[in-house]
Amino acid sequence: WLKSYLTLGPDRPRWAYVVDALIARNISKSGPNAPDETRVNVLLQTWNANLYQQTSLPPEISHMFRVGKKYGIHLSTPEPSAALKDTMPIWYPIGQDPKKRRVYTSNECHCLQTRHAIRTAGEARALSDLLGRARHKARRNCACTECKRIRQATGCENPHKCAQEAEYLLDNLIEKWDPRKTYSAVRHLTKHERRKNERAHTEGKGGPVIFDPSYAARPSISDNFRIFTNE
Ligand SMILES: [Zn+2]
Ligand SMILES: [Zn+2]
Ligand SMILES: [Zn+2]
Repeated sequence: WLKSYLTLGPDRPRWAYVVDALIARNISKSGPNAPDETRVNVLLQTWNANLYQQTSLPPEISHMFRVGKKYGIHLSTPEPSAALKDTMPIWYPIGQDPKKRRVYTSNECHCLQTRHAIRTAGEARALSDLLGRARHKARRNCACTECKRIRQATGCENPHKCAQEAEYLLDNLIEKWDPRKTYSAVRHLTKHERRKNERAHTEGKGGPVIFDPSYAARPSISDNFRIFTNE
């Protein structure tokens, strides 16, 4: 249940979106006061859902999330792929650098949430790419093709400022969750170690096989959730 709920992207079951909408209506007063536009997934962001008293969530759903919280759901992703980082929510992200915690009160944040409809780190990254484009000028009335396209598609009046804000949002992520960076937490086997493993397999008596820590890294979000139970 929880696993298919946590599947993002095209394979995500329809009902999971219904659950999201129900949860988003039951935002808790503890934790950040996240506006509607920013709420994507209670388990991947820092806002809290009201799972207890006076919740209008169906009992099975609130029960499921209470169980999830009780046993501690967390992402065990030593080395998230670029694709996984792109699908993570950009507002109230769990990958927020705690030293840089910030509020989203600027006009640009509002524009990003409403006009640009930016929800994920990948969407923020795509917009921030504007700043590096050769023809782009750092000003409000820049006439480059991308600024024109953004104005037309979204109604944004200052794509440059919004792209800068998108960049700040990405700068607030810890390195591991920043989709612009390749982060290496896991030690990869050396060539020598890999050859040794191959020999161990093919010759059958080549000594112990060295565990490859990079096997632990999986490509999709749902594969990376683990529920730990002590019972
Ligand atoms: Zn942990
Ligand atoms: Zn431009
Ligand atoms: Zn804008």
